[in-house]
Amino acid sequence: MRFLGRWLFRIYLMQLLTFVGAITAVLVTLEKLTRRTELPWKTRFFDRLLSPDSTVYPALKQSFADDFEQPTDGPGWSEDQLPRLWGTCRALAAALGCPPPDAIHLSVEPGDCMAWQSRVGDGPVRRHIALSLLDLRLVSHDEARAVIAHELVHAGFDHVRQGYDEAKQATLMRAVWGRLPWPLRLGLLVPMGLYTIGVESAAHAHEREADRKAAAVVGGNHTARALERMMLQAPVLARVFAVVHARAALGERAPQRLAEAAYQLYSRYEFSQLKEHAAAESVVPGEQHPSLPERVAGSEREPSRAGIGGQRSFIEAYPELLAAEELLTRTYFPDKAHHQRSDASQLRRKALAARLKRR
Ligand SMILES: [Zn+2]
Repeated sequence: MRFLGRWLFRIYLMQLLTFVGAITAVLVTLEKLTRRTELPWKTRFFDRLLSPDSTVYPALKQSFADDFEQPTDGPGWSEDQLPRLWGTCRALAAALGCPPPDAIHLSVEPGDCMAWQSRVGDGPVRRHIALSLLDLRLVSHDEARAVIAHELVHAGFDHVRQGYDEAKQATLMRAVWGRLPWPLRLGLLVPMGLYTIGVESAAHAHEREADRKAAAVVGGNHTARALERMMLQAPVLARVFAVVHARAALGERAPQRLAEAAYQLYSRYEFSQLKEHAAAESVVPGEQHPSLPERVAGSEREPSRAGIGGQRSFIEAYPELLAAEELLTRTYFPDKAHHQRSDASQLRRKALAARLKRR
């Protein structure tokens, strides 16, 4: 539907362009005959037809243009710093059948498991994934692989660029609608209608695809459990993080590892009311994501797998992450007793500031 709507829109614009072109040709010929312009016919014709404040041609050109841009770049963490995690990402990407990320970012803050693509000008598109060391403390090694695979699907299967293009086409349609005189708008009704229906019926399609592909590669059981933990517990852990962070900022000493400190406090209490609240929220579909029961059911349609991590937690499986978390924590408290000698400014805080919409 989206595909058809987009192409009908383009075809209608091409028809309009032919129509407007014929009128322009007549007008320019008249201009030349009455000697109201010194410019050559051809120059005058294209000036009038393709001027940036005309509607049809710029919209048509824009509809075809490959103009995705996103400045939020950053080097991420190198292979030397995270050899095991890079190995996992490459292996999972190969199993998923998509390119590996160009950058891996880490965060100690909640809600930072996400993926995006960056591009400056018409340069190459770079794929980024970010992982929250806090949220991933909730899950096992195998469940974390499901979370990582989910983000790799977003980055590797061009979801961000597709989302951009979808929004662009809709904007162009509305803009052309707004600028055309009303009889000409009629030709937009069918393309715009089809496009809107297509977009609405494909809501959450990227999330479903990411869950399904992750489940196929890592196992439906691990993907479903990861989703449950992340959606039911991560909101509670986020509240605890805010408390630990605020306390450390006020106190004398800061923790050596911020996410670890938050997780330790979290695991000491039940937080049953907060968990109930998160459970109630999780059954409502969000703007980006389907509801938790729907996501779990979707994942469980893929076969279960034994997994590779046994009972180990994600953090235990990647000791390199502890060192990374220490470096990150120093960027939060460069002046605290624990971190006096850190070179905070050189750390990768900038890359982590890339807090885009969670995907
Ligand atoms: Zn997602």
